[in-house]
Amino acid sequence: MPFDQSQLRLLPSVDTLLHSPEGQELIARYSHELTVRAIRSSVQQAREAILQGASCPSASELLREAAQTLERSFLPNLRPIINATGVIINTNLGRSPLSATALHAVQAVSSGYSNLEYELEAGKRGSRHTHITRLLCELTGAEAALVTNNNAAAVLLALSALAVGREVLISRGQLVEIGGGFRVPDVMRQSGCHLIEVGTTNRTRIADYAAALTEQTALLLAVHPSNFRITGFTEETPLSELVALAHTHHLPVLHDLGSGCLLESQHYGLAHEPTPQESIAAGADIVCFSGDKLLGGPQAGILVGKSEYISRLAKHPLMRAVRIDKMTLAALEATLHHYRLGEAEQHLPIWRMISASPAELSKRAGQWVDQLRQVGIQAETQAGESTIGGGSLPGETLPTTLVALSEERMPHSLESIARRLRLHTPAVVTRILRNRLLLDPRTVLPEQDHQLIEALTAVLQG
Ligand SMILES: *Cc1c(COP(=O)(O)O)cnc(C)c1O
Repeated sequence: MPFDQSQLRLLPSVDTLLHSPEGQELIARYSHELTVRAIRSSVQQAREAILQGASCPSASELLREAAQTLERSFLPNLRPIINATGVIINTNLGRSPLSATALHAVQAVSSGYSNLEYELEAGKRGSRHTHITRLLCELTGAEAALVTNNNAAAVLLALSALAVGREVLISRGQLVEIGGGFRVPDVMRQSGCHLIEVGTTNRTRIADYAAALTEQTALLLAVHPSNFRITGFTEETPLSELVALAHTHHLPVLHDLGSGCLLESQHYGLAHEPTPQESIAAGADIVCFSGDKLLGGPQAGILVGKSEYISRLAKHPLMRAVRIDKMTLAALEATLHHYRLGEAEQHLPIWRMISASPAELSKRAGQWVDQLRQVGIQAETQAGESTIGGGSLPGETLPTTLVALSEERMPHSLESIARRLRLHTPAVVTRILRNRLLLDPRTVLPEQDHQLIEALTAVLQG
């Protein structure tokens, strides 16, 4: 389309817009420089549109555009979302939400100074690593403990400190990829130890380990296959047998447990998830796990085990590079206290989600359907399944009641609705299955219910 020269002449100058009352308001709010930049960009966009044949927008349209650009630029890029997917621990969605007490602890130690590395009794330099040692030992039965930035760092540190330049035995069935590029063989190479694979993918016996031992062996590594299951003709060497063999040869066993589940998952209708307590009781010399999977705390790597090995890790130069920060430490300490008090299920969001009763979930789903009906949106409940996710309890599901929106009753395609929900503030993440958009109340925090209904109303009625 040919453009209209007269439309171009109608375009107000940047200066005129800046001097308007709305322009002055933007300057007062965002600074002169940012306002000039935003107004220039909306005028420039309008000019380009006119050259493509559009007509000239009004001054107030241009100013509104600039105001929106400015407002959007100040939204945090990392922001809260509502997880309606029914996947409880999702690495992409930040894994475990923190308990209110943990959040409070973070605020308390980070809004002022703290005794992060200071001994109050003696008035001298202390260690950040001692704050939660006793708690971790009490909860897991270990002699010593150490925390890092995450579990990948914990594995790297342990292998670097105990096996550099020497051989580490691992079953072929445990050479796993956890996701996000964490592959056990790569981490082993990075730590400078030599990987010796034993057994086969589906069966590894203690004799396979025994046959692979040499003068060069530094350590026996067991990795919990936390995100998949092999079934059928399988055999895994029990940890206690591995420990007995290793100790006969004065070698340590490192058990990478992944999830760090301190509770008995069978009480919640799930398969048994191996616990750090069990690994310690079986004699593992070092056990490591994440802080933000089934432990339900902040991102962290936790190492528990024998003092002779843990103290070698604590002194290793890599320790400085993988150390935990004060906010995480505060959140982790508060999280662990919930376990000590036997109140994890009431206070840790992921355990509240895991233990939510079918009746409770069905009631909330029913309430959502009613509230949606009141604003003219047709939805219905249906039986479904929630999953644990995040490299914990693969294949295990929990029965739930979902709220379903059917494609045929909706004003837009389900893909488009899901996208609009993701771009809404707060963002809502859902799943689509067989022409239905599904919302699972299990992973939506109860205090987010009204925000979820508002988001759906805005997206479907807006
Ligand atoms: C999740 C996982 C890791 C990595 O832990 P991060 O805390 O994500 O670094 C390592 N090993 C196993 C077995 C895991 O499940």
